[in-house]
Amino acid sequence: MIPSIRHTSPIQSRYLDFIEALRQTDFQGDLNPDYANRTVLATDNSIYQVLPQGVVYPKTVDDLVTLTTLSHRAEFQDVVLSPRGGGTGTNGQSLTDGLVVDTSKYMNEILEINVEERWVRVQCGVVKDQLNKALKPHGLFFAPELSTSNRATIGGMINTDASGQGSCRYGKTRDHVLELRTVFLDGSDWTSRPVDDAELTDISQRENRVGEVHRTVNQIYTDHAEQIEARFPKLNRCLTGYDLAHIRTAEGLFDLNSVLCGSEGTLGFIAEAKLNLLPIPKVSALVNVNYRDFNAALRDATELMKAEPTSIETVDSKVLNLAMNDIVWHSVSEFFPPSSTGEPIQGINLVEYTADTEEDLDAAVKRLTGRLDAELENDNGRLGYSLAWGSEAVAKIWAMRKKSVGLLGNAEGEARPIPFVEDTAVPPENLADFIMEFRAALDQRGLAYGMFGHVDAGVLHVRPAIDMKDPAQEALIRPITDEVVALVKKYNGLLWGEHGKGVRAEYAPEFFGELYPQLQRLKACFDPNNQLNPGKIATPKTELELLTIDGVTTRGQQDRKIPVQVWEGYSEGMHCNGNGQCHNWNPNDAMCPSWKGTRLRTHTPKGRASLVREWLKQLSERDVNAIEESEATRKQSFLLSFPSRLKNTLSKKRGEYDFSHEVHESMMGCLACKSCTGQCPIKVDVPSFRSKFLELYYGRYLRPLKDYFIGGLEYMVPTLARVPWLYNGLMKPRFMQAIMAKVAGMVDSPLLTGISLDNALHERRIRYASPANIAALTQVQRDNAVIVVQDAFTSYFETQLVLDSLDLLTKLGFTPLVAPFKPNGKPLHVHGFLGPFAKAAVKNAAHLNDLARSGIPLVGLEPSMTLAYRSEYQKVLGREAPEVALIQEWLARQGEQLEPRKDLLEPNTFALLAHCTEKTNAAASIKDWQSVFTALGQKLEVVDVGCCGMAGTYGHEASNVETSKKIYGLSWAEVVNKPENAGKLTATGYSCRSQAKRIDGASIPHPLQVLLAQM
Ligand SMILES: Cc1cc2nc3c(=O)[nH]c(=O)nc-3n(C[C@H](O)[C@H](O)[C@H](O)COP(=O)(O)OP(=O)(O)OC[C@H]3O[C@@H](n4cnc5c(N)ncnc54)[C@H](O)[C@@H]3O)c2cc1C
Ligand code: SF4
Ligand code: SF4
Repeated sequence: MIPSIRHTSPIQSRYLDFIEALRQTDFQGDLNPDYANRTVLATDNSIYQVLPQGVVYPKTVDDLVTLTTLSHRAEFQDVVLSPRGGGTGTNGQSLTDGLVVDTSKYMNEILEINVEERWVRVQCGVVKDQLNKALKPHGLFFAPELSTSNRATIGGMINTDASGQGSCRYGKTRDHVLELRTVFLDGSDWTSRPVDDAELTDISQRENRVGEVHRTVNQIYTDHAEQIEARFPKLNRCLTGYDLAHIRTAEGLFDLNSVLCGSEGTLGFIAEAKLNLLPIPKVSALVNVNYRDFNAALRDATELMKAEPTSIETVDSKVLNLAMNDIVWHSVSEFFPPSSTGEPIQGINLVEYTADTEEDLDAAVKRLTGRLDAELENDNGRLGYSLAWGSEAVAKIWAMRKKSVGLLGNAEGEARPIPFVEDTAVPPENLADFIMEFRAALDQRGLAYGMFGHVDAGVLHVRPAIDMKDPAQEALIRPITDEVVALVKKYNGLLWGEHGKGVRAEYAPEFFGELYPQLQRLKACFDPNNQLNPGKIATPKTELELLTIDGVTTRGQQDRKIPVQVWEGYSEGMHCNGNGQCHNWNPNDAMCPSWKGTRLRTHTPKGRASLVREWLKQLSERDVNAIEESEATRKQSFLLSFPSRLKNTLSKKRGEYDFSHEVHESMMGCLACKSCTGQCPIKVDVPSFRSKFLELYYGRYLRPLKDYFIGGLEYMVPTLARVPWLYNGLMKPRFMQAIMAKVAGMVDSPLLTGISLDNALHERRIRYASPANIAALTQVQRDNAVIVVQDAFTSYFETQLVLDSLDLLTKLGFTPLVAPFKPNGKPLHVHGFLGPFAKAAVKNAAHLNDLARSGIPLVGLEPSMTLAYRSEYQKVLGREAPEVALIQEWLARQGEQLEPRKDLLEPNTFALLAHCTEKTNAAASIKDWQSVFTALGQKLEVVDVGCCGMAGTYGHEASNVETSKKIYGLSWAEVVNKPENAGKLTATGYSCRSQAKRIDGASIPHPLQVLLAQM
């Protein structure tokens, strides 16, 4: 039995006092000093892990004013505050051992869109993709681009001066900032915009922080204009943050925003921003140029620039190969055919053109393709090119490119590509030579790495693979960084070309030279007590130190406290690198419903991975090995352990602290939809490690009754189905539902159909798949036979679907057989009954493998139960796991049989709402549905929706109902209720169909039922 984790890292008393004092004010936001929140916000995407004292989630600008005013009081002037947005920084930008102030949870509203004047006013926590989605109907967009656009906030973008693909055409975030509303540390709330000298004089006379800031910054600029001119580099990626070189605009106005943009939360809280917008280019295309070596791709970029594209991005073969093995490849593979010579493609330049008319676009693209065609024989390393025409195709390729950064983390083994020198910028003409030397520095140390970046701007992303758990490898961070710093200097570039400085600020004094004290002076006038994100960019006093790249706790230092056996046993969660893809804002994306339904960072795949890692570390520090504990728990007698589990549960009820409760709370919010498993670039698989956690947690505490009900349902249901009137009679009445909710924690439990499958099969002369029945098939029947593997949900709660499927198969000329029912075990796995699950899997697999030996294919109707055979079963049984295809995977291969029967069906158009597990873990199978429909003369469009909120039994659990319905409301409700969709929708998941029925009373058929109805 695992021990209780009563003590973790205590909160420093001054922070407890501060939080308590804040509680006494009219602060409206959330105060979270709990260990779960502290743990989850201790990391970003960097190699560092810094435990904060607590997390504060302000709701309004007034909250920020209250917070800063309090921090300004004499007794709290040693309290540290670090603003945080999406937390996607790559160099510890938002990490702190003080208080994290996360503005993304509540301050995320788009306040005003002015289409005529082309600007927008937003709160700082608005996500970049959220903004552009709202702007799209107006034909406008916020131009600065970044790979993390689906989770990075405008506040974070402004503070890192984010930019990416297209920066040569569109500039950086700062270039689109019109006004900033900032709350300074004394509580003053100031909106800055470029001002003329008269206004500057006026503002400078103010007595508060606002006046002081304007006076000092102007003074520094006036006194040091020459040094500033000489020091600040003249790159596309000009130096960002404290940018004194641009304090005067081209028109001579004083612009405080040039200092604030890129200041990494060290000068004030950006609460709101007014941003410049651009018209969306009407048409776009990509020319994908392939190379036989990456260096050739880099060198060629300057040549390609002559054809005046909008942007040029490059990826190397490593990144390309990773993309090929990811779900994302399904959407772009057609644009990357093998080279005509058969030579391997080692690098690609993605050259983008945008225009307002097709004719202009055509002419622009021909500028390049004409060149490429004419230079075919030249020795320039080019292998050929392909074209992607239209914004939809272009968006798919950019999505693949954006995902590349995350994919780089998904290497085999323990050495993983990590960011620390990942965003260097040099003048583009120096890039190829610079990279040659950079590569030599990595090659000489035997390190693997992948590369991609914005070649047009001279920015290349390089992440060397290092196992930070190994102290010897960790020690490489310093010499490599030093060497790269020297290299960028040699090639007139910057170490921090795109992602900001973060802990790399230690190189700032050397970089700024004699100007550095002026940066300190600047910091001091905004933040004299070094309270705002200290140690980054500059300190207010010389005696205060900057952070150093090897002076901050790393994740590796924490992770190495977990024994190798445990690390490997929980590998599904250990390699999360915090890139934040799972914090995806898009409600129409499957990842991650529990995050979208709660907006809690502790309820995300990253949050759960962070918590389980910390939990394993805490156990390890108590000499408890979670793997050995798991074995012991399986042997633990239910009855003998009952008294101690009861005692522990009573202690829990009395409020006794155990960190495991916080981890449990987070795990229980997971829908086990497996979208993380399929979509996380690192393949973090929450349901797998969640089950392992639950097994151990319930070795110490009593399980809720519902777990036994859900876990045992598959075993009970065949018996219950014999007396459906009894089961339904017990479940249906309102008072019984109330009792079920109270006692068993279940609501809206599905009712048995009462249809006897045995009788219905008999009527149809369809046989169960037994050795005797298979042997009795004629050769023709055998050649067309398929075995439908039952699952409890479809067979007993939606029996008509099984029958409709069998009828359709028969009409299509197949000989369907039905595998006798055996529990699949998936519900057991979801709830952490891992021992019983393994037994169920062994038994069911033996049965299915027997049937499979007949050579007749096995197919399943229910996506999540069927996909368990290739994931959960594989983990227990390896190669012994039975092969059961999703029905559409098998049908799609039967084109010859389907095509001739096309005429039996009325042609029509339908819209598919696919199940999350299916579309994220078997992405190709969605296209299979389309192929099947096409083969039968139907059109099937795939609707972009997120999760329906039901996910197995999640939505039936009383504690989840509210969130389940909220999740449904995020994307499904609109689609289901749209009048144009009436009669068109079809859904593959049992859960999805029952959720639409329970909430909207909508009966959505399965795709096979749709096809049958067309006959
Ligand atoms: C996989 C990956 C790819 C990336 N690709 C790019 C890229 O293409 N281009 C690019 O520019 N960057 C990129 N980044 C880096 C990162 O996404 C950007 O720096 C982004 O702008 C950070 O936004 P955020 O909301 O996550 O901010 P956070 O990481 O939360 O914070 C960043 C900084 O801003 C400060 N901050 C945040 N909000 C506020 C506020 N309201 N007031 C004051 N200070 C605030 C924080 O203190 C911190 O210093 C990438 C990161 C990852 C993990
Ligand atoms: S769980 Fe996956 S997507 Fe989420 S932060 Fe971790 S690695 Fe990134
Ligand atoms: S299984 Fe689904 S709900 Fe659970 S963490 Fe993964 S994406 Fe989120």
